[in-house]
Amino acid sequence: MYELIKKDGRAKRGRLVTVHGTIETPVFMNVGTVAAIKGAVSTDDLRDIGTQVELSNTYHLHVRTGDKLIKEFGGLHKFMNWDRPILTDSGGFQVFSLAKLRKIKEEGVSFSSHIDGRKIFMGPEESMQIQSNLGSTIAMAFDECPPHPATRQYMQNSVDRTTRWLERCKKEMKRLNSLEDTVNPHQLLFGINQGGTFEDIRIAHAKTISDMDLDGYAIGGLAVGESHEEMYHILDETVPYLPEDKPTYLMGVGTPVNILESVERGVDFFDCVYPTRNGRHGHVYTNHGKLNMFNKKYELDHRPIEEGCQCPACRSYSRAYIRHLLKAKEMLGMRLCVLHNLYFYNTMMSEIRTAIEEGRYKEYKDQKIAGMMNQ
Ligand SMILES: [Zn+2]
Repeated sequence: MYELIKKDGRAKRGRLVTVHGTIETPVFMNVGTVAAIKGAVSTDDLRDIGTQVELSNTYHLHVRTGDKLIKEFGGLHKFMNWDRPILTDSGGFQVFSLAKLRKIKEEGVSFSSHIDGRKIFMGPEESMQIQSNLGSTIAMAFDECPPHPATRQYMQNSVDRTTRWLERCKKEMKRLNSLEDTVNPHQLLFGINQGGTFEDIRIAHAKTISDMDLDGYAIGGLAVGESHEEMYHILDETVPYLPEDKPTYLMGVGTPVNILESVERGVDFFDCVYPTRNGRHGHVYTNHGKLNMFNKKYELDHRPIEEGCQCPACRSYSRAYIRHLLKAKEMLGMRLCVLHNLYFYNTMMSEIRTAIEEGRYKEYKDQKIAGMMNQ
């Protein structure tokens, strides 16, 4: 059940109550591809850094270790010992980006696993079945992720198929949720808006899926190579046609600035691999811009990554030590940078929520961006 608590301009402060607890929005979901945040981060760590939602990838878990095995164990929550909400993607994005030898038909997609070459078929029903086996809190609809750029004709055909697939997803999810041995019979379903950078296709699709009474709505197929300005423009045009009394999720985005700009345009769910991937490479976010912890100027720096930061890295360790760990390729160095980055994102989302509640979002956003551009 989603409740829109407050609006400040278009920015939404919401709350989604689920069987696995309440999600306060805007929220940044922390990406754990194969049911683990890369960088040796445990679910105890996630609780420590204020993570609300963990995101796992359906495709990855399906090809290894297998969703049937995870269901037999009792579902993903039990498997990874995480009792807060989990969102699973549909597998679509990985099928269209990672898997080899794809063949798209009305029924679904045939492809070869990127792990062992095994032939796999995935359509709307299969994706829903896998996500039901995982027992996530929120399942994503199976959509086609069109290439960028795509011709108008290709995009229109692709979006029409995505709509037909969404109807099949909804029907299959209803069936699965009613079965006796379902891991999470209260699983929610979010639909996905597509249409690339064609505003009229995006808007028509947003209107169509809004009528389907889903639990939430995502905007997919952005941050795939178009400019930031194009992405913001598409959000300006499309978000007003999605129901504001449901979650609005921008998939795979982005930098702190992208998030701040998108919140202003009415988005309140985000996920991205940037904080974890950058952390693993020693790149850390601060309120004064990004730092490269490999830099020689930190070799005798006694300060934490960011002064005043309450993350597990900054509470205990100096920049000099973290730089040393990274140079020595010690896993702890990577882990501390990932923890700091996720804490930075989670904390920024908490500041965003407070700013919206207090009706000063625009002012907060401008100040935050100006600070990060300092360097
Ligand atoms: Zn920190």
